[in-house]
Amino acid sequence: MHTDDGVVRCTLRGKLKKAFAQANSAHTQNKTNQQPRTKKSANLSPDDARIERIEKRDSSENPLPTRLAVGDYVRLRRLDNTTGVIEEILPRRSELSRRDAASNQNKSVQQTLLANLNQVVIVFAAAQPEPHFGLLDRYLTICESAELKPIICINKADLPHDKLVQQEADLYSHIGYEVIWSSTQTQQNIDTLKTRLRDHITLFTGPSGVGKSSLVNAIEPGMAIQTGMISSATGKGRHTTTGSQLYPLSDGGWLADSAGIRALAAWNIEPEELATCFVEFRPYLSECMYSDCAHIDEEGCAILRAVDEDIIDARRHRSYVRIYTGEER
Ligand code: GDP
Ligand code: ZN
Repeated sequence: MHTDDGVVRCTLRGKLKKAFAQANSAHTQNKTNQQPRTKKSANLSPDDARIERIEKRDSSENPLPTRLAVGDYVRLRRLDNTTGVIEEILPRRSELSRRDAASNQNKSVQQTLLANLNQVVIVFAAAQPEPHFGLLDRYLTICESAELKPIICINKADLPHDKLVQQEADLYSHIGYEVIWSSTQTQQNIDTLKTRLRDHITLFTGPSGVGKSSLVNAIEPGMAIQTGMISSATGKGRHTTTGSQLYPLSDGGWLADSAGIRALAAWNIEPEELATCFVEFRPYLSECMYSDCAHIDEEGCAILRAVDEDIIDARRHRSYVRIYTGEER
């Protein structure tokens, strides 16, 4: 664990260990894989006792509030200068989890990959590759669903780009998102990004080739290699583990590594919840004639009326329909 006075090696307090073991045995009953569990220990770091790294766990773990995740704040008891016992896991402000792939039959089984993440920087390029705004809408819904603040970053602002890109980007500012145009070539807005990251726990996400590693490198030289961002751009499969890690930024704050990116991409939103993840739909949702309105082709739908009146952007509504109907991007 990271603490104000350096890294402390910790074990879990008995009570937590017990909850951990119970959750595990309950869960392994319907699983063939019954590996013995190794005792958990963690490195703690400066700045509010955050877990930077915990030992790899197998993906069948059952998440209870008593389960330690990367990013958790804990109360710990010192044994000496370098060791301690985790007494309590403090309540989480946010959770990035994913459903355990091996236990689809049990929907409640979720694995928390990152706790207490504050924000997600969603990176697209102004050109090369052309931005795919339907995909941006997917990322945004995921952030809204997880209650994480998204920041939209349009990188490669130095490259000539279509004026449609500017128009689309303006739409996102108009509905309330922060849009930062950046360039690692001209250093445009690199300082702005640094400021946004300070004292926050941030995940960078976006398609490959848009300049995520280059941005992370411009913000914190050397970081992109550590976070595995570079290898994730060139080849899949380096991270066989689902465990994320957090890396300290020299100005304060933390950056999540690429395992978190995959977790975000695997996020599932329930259809009923989807409309609320389109922020500009929210003021109209209560006006729909039927409480179970899907906002697709219903008579008396307030969302469709707002689209007709050009209050809600028609392309954003099409994105909504595509995600709702499970269409591929
Ligand atoms: P990632 O896959 O998102 O991590 O993208 P990379 O950081 O690997 O960048 C992909 C390519 O885009 C590399 O050739 C970079 O040199 C280039 N690149 C990154 N940022 C910029 C930028 O701001 N402007 C331009 N013109 N090229 C960039
Ligand atoms: Zn409706």
